[in-house]
Amino acid sequence: MSFAELGLSDKVQQAVAAAGYTEPTPIQAQAIPHVLARRDVLGIAQTGTGKTAAFTLPMLTLLETGRARARMPRTLILEPTRELAAQVEDNFDKYGINHRLSVALLIGGVSFGDQDAKITRGVDVLIATPGRLLDHFERGKLLLTGVELLVIDEADRMLDMGFIPDIERIVKLVPFTRQTLFFSATMPPEIQRLADAFLHNPVKVEVARAASTATTITQRLVATGSQDFEKRATLRELIRSATDLQNAIVFCNRKRDVAVLHRSLQKHGFAAVALHGDMDQHARMAALDSFRSGEMPLLVASDVAARGLDIPAVSHVFNYDVPHHAEDYVHRIGRTGRAGRSGAAFTLVGPGDEKSLAAIEKLIGQPIPWEGPSLAERPASEGASRRRGGRGEGRGEGREERSRGRKVKVRRSGSDEPKAEAPALRERDEQPSRKPRPERERQPERDRQDRQPERDNRRRSRHDNDSDAPVVGLGDHVPAFLLRPVPVKKVK
Ligand code: AMP
Repeated sequence: MSFAELGLSDKVQQAVAAAGYTEPTPIQAQAIPHVLARRDVLGIAQTGTGKTAAFTLPMLTLLETGRARARMPRTLILEPTRELAAQVEDNFDKYGINHRLSVALLIGGVSFGDQDAKITRGVDVLIATPGRLLDHFERGKLLLTGVELLVIDEADRMLDMGFIPDIERIVKLVPFTRQTLFFSATMPPEIQRLADAFLHNPVKVEVARAASTATTITQRLVATGSQDFEKRATLRELIRSATDLQNAIVFCNRKRDVAVLHRSLQKHGFAAVALHGDMDQHARMAALDSFRSGEMPLLVASDVAARGLDIPAVSHVFNYDVPHHAEDYVHRIGRTGRAGRSGAAFTLVGPGDEKSLAAIEKLIGQPIPWEGPSLAERPASEGASRRRGGRGEGRGEGREERSRGRKVKVRRSGSDEPKAEAPALRERDEQPSRKPRPERERQPERDRQDRQPERDNRRRSRHDNDSDAPVVGLGDHVPAFLLRPVPVKKVK
């Protein structure tokens, strides 16, 4: 099938040809004719399938007739995150090169003033995150009664992020007669309920999960302890020993862990950036740009922050946590092994992760092999101190560290930290934490690593210390006399 058969306007077809696309993807081939015929569409497709163009291309064609009126956008696209909204705007820039359309982006972290001015002039396409859209609406600067076409994108992610009440409110503000395009990667019952409520006699188009069938991805499980410091040590070892690692995304389940892990990786000299919901817009864009350009080859992210981002294929995905939703595993590993290229996905599995792992293996229909010992085979005593390959021991260039049956060359720098030789993961010398610390600081740290896990657990729950955090006060060493009960006299 060719783009010419879909009914798109000449201007759009020229832009598509200029973008270098020769044929539509399955979601585009199925959805575009229906959108052009003004039908409601329920699209079940995940990112990477070309779904953004499946709605932007026909929208551009439809918008060629008619014109925008002040404060009354003609079309509205709702996106769960600012990055996704910005990505959709990029699509309009790219495919709308032959059009003179006005596109406005309403996202948090950007001043209201410029956004207001644009809306007041009149926009053809309004791309917004739900919260910011409602903020504008409440300020009285925006009227949604002129919306002819509404796109609700990444609906299941909207649900995860708690945006459904906002979406329901917005849908009540747009005309009942509008055309609606509704996209979701999955269709849990709550999303089906919304689709039933928002869509009128929709055409359902569904494309296969790309990742579940991609045989170009080598998937492996890696047994680790359940403590954060053990997981971090396991991850570092994996990164250092990975073959052909060009760039990688490290996924965490919680945004708090994204920040902690990012700091830890930086401390250990890895060129890493983070992406989580608490960062401001500027920081998120800057992080993404440095990852895309290759300046920072490691991206630590949560599912929510990374969802749908158009990031070029990565060579590796590391699941720092086993995802709670099996579908997220499919999304995560789909970041690698794209377009027939090979990729690797490693998932850290600790005690307590068995249930989530079983759900993933059921969904993808195959067991994932272990790299090294399985969780059941992993020696109970194996902890971070052993994994670290005797941090602080052995000096000089060219020391070899054994890692899961593979030999990995590591070299020593001025500090006593092992260095990976993967060029993409160069460790930055300007990191202050790479300076050797005085012996009195390092000593308690090694002591801590050798202690019982329960004890570490207690400490960690209070401070979430990494092994490299400076010791505060007496550290773990509390002299016995301080623990003796002190008799207190009652005051009459
Ligand atoms: P999406 O699923 O919308 O995030 O798109 C994923 C990637 O596919 C984007 O980088 C698009 O530029 C690209 N793309 C979209 N449509 C096509 C097509 N028909 N042929 C080749 N690449 C495409």
